[in-house]
Amino acid sequence: MQPLTLDGRVIAKAIREDLSRRVCAIKSQGLDISLASIVVGDDQSSLIYQSSNAKSCVKVGITPITIIMNSTTTTQQLLDTIHQLNEDVNVCGIILHHPLPKHIDERACFDAIRCDKDVDGVNTSNFGRLALGLPCMYPSTPLSIMTILDYYGIQLIGKHVAVVGRSAILGKPVSLLMLARHATVTICHSRTTNLQAVLGNADIVVACVGKSNLIGKECLKEGVVLIDAGYNEGNVGDIDIDSCMPICSAYTPVPGGVGPVTVSMLLQQTVQSAENRLRNN
Ligand code: NAP
Repeated sequence: MQPLTLDGRVIAKAIREDLSRRVCAIKSQGLDISLASIVVGDDQSSLIYQSSNAKSCVKVGITPITIIMNSTTTTQQLLDTIHQLNEDVNVCGIILHHPLPKHIDERACFDAIRCDKDVDGVNTSNFGRLALGLPCMYPSTPLSIMTILDYYGIQLIGKHVAVVGRSAILGKPVSLLMLARHATVTICHSRTTNLQAVLGNADIVVACVGKSNLIGKECLKEGVVLIDAGYNEGNVGDIDIDSCMPICSAYTPVPGGVGPVTVSMLLQQTVQSAENRLRNN
């Protein structure tokens, strides 16, 4: 039987329609909802991602604020910019793109973003709250993965999930979210010995590595669900999906799987932040 395609574009469209309605309601209450996005330097993938996010904002009625700072920007100058955005009432979300130039104190800058505007869940407080299962702003890609699984009704309780990758923005938080939903989670990384044996036991594999076609069918269990967050040169994921087709029961394509939903999650959390503000005023 053909595996089920977990189509991120379908989900993203449904979310955008919902967000457009919510943005109209927010604007009718006098808030010109904006999402600010800062790139420092000339990292091409950050600039492309920033511009594509800005287009997505416009589609749902959010005003994008695009800030590009030169690569000699100091930590203090970046902190000053973040503080200004924190104070701006119309700014409901702030994204600081990674990577930053090496001389910048990245953690200080992430932590300077006001928690309720931290729509990519990068500050220490939001990460801690996520780990404790408290309400918070989530990193967008882990939230995208959970949204895809929920949309297609893929159950997590009691399932063995292998997450490959342990970055603070992806592998670790998605593992915590899966654990909170009662999955049994194994986190793998570059020093994991016998990765194939771990993958062979998994009901769901989440790949967040950044290595083209690292995972192939040889090691996988029949009926496995494959979630590929990897995005590598040439629009290729971390999973060699062609070889896995006869074995898996469902998979996210690359492109068109995790990526489009991730952008929607940034917008959704921006809208959520605006609604919370209006409710609390
Ligand atoms: P990252 O910070 O470079 O982390 C990569 C992780 O993969 C690390 O934990 C590393 O282990 C692990 N790893 C490297 N080689 C491995 C191997 N051979 N076997 C097992 N684990 C290995 O990357 P990231 O920021 O998490 O991003 C990962 C991928 O997701 C990239 O392709 C990125 O483009 C993509 N991404 C996609 C989205 C989206 O919305 N679709 C969003 C963000 C990122 P160590 O910790 O031991 O080094």
